[in-house]
Amino acid sequence: MTLLPAIRRPFAGLRRFAAGMADLFFPPICSSCDEDLGPNYDDSRLCETCRDGLTEVPTFRCPKCAARVAITFQDGDCPWCRTHDLRFDGTFTLGTYHDALREVVLRSKYGGSEPLVAAATKLLLHRWEEPLRAAQIDLVVPIPMYWTRRLRRGHCGPEIAAQVIARHLGVADYPRLLKRQRNTQPQVGLSINQRRDNVHRAFGVRRPSRVVGKRVLLVDDVLTTGATCSEAARELKRVGASFVAVAVLARAQGET
Ligand SMILES: [Zn+2]
Ligand SMILES: [Zn+2]
Repeated sequence: MTLLPAIRRPFAGLRRFAAGMADLFFPPICSSCDEDLGPNYDDSRLCETCRDGLTEVPTFRCPKCAARVAITFQDGDCPWCRTHDLRFDGTFTLGTYHDALREVVLRSKYGGSEPLVAAATKLLLHRWEEPLRAAQIDLVVPIPMYWTRRLRRGHCGPEIAAQVIARHLGVADYPRLLKRQRNTQPQVGLSINQRRDNVHRAFGVRRPSRVVGKRVLLVDDVLTTGATCSEAARELKRVGASFVAVAVLARAQGET
């Protein structure tokens, strides 16, 4: 288990000082395009062009599944939620899975993308700061990969994003709470029903007692049909979670 944030970061002051010194000798560059950031940059460490590319124009989204909806939307009105039995309670996303955001998601699957994933996650946090705090999350949990894939890849984008979110909210992240019980095939290219069958009972909870009565934020890179996060939420609720929301970098609707 991951310990509480305060315990996990010894010598935080020293590390901040070291980071400040490093910035002095190696001026910060954009986490996406390597452009020199100059003196004015925020914690996302993105240049203005990349930040703009990842910032969605105001869009109405269903609060439960983050599908784009009409301006006249009212609760229970989302065509996606009506036809998909989604077991999570809400979704926070940076935007639609296309253009720059699609590129971030694709790059996040490769090593060396950690600063970019952290940068995009910070933009997501900026956008959803108030609702995320209002959700009173207790625990941040990434959607895990099957262990052989995790080993091959060497890193896991959702794990990095979950860590950034947990630190920002000042709550615990628990990267190993969920386990993939079997090696499911990638969801890309599967129909909606195939996706649901593919992830059916794919997840287990390692320490169910940690989840009882807790409000959980699940973290993944992209939400397409919602089948993966829904299955993980179903399992978390089965062992006692009181609320499960989802944070994803991108929401795909017919883009994959
Ligand atoms: Zn840039
Ligand atoms: Zn919906």
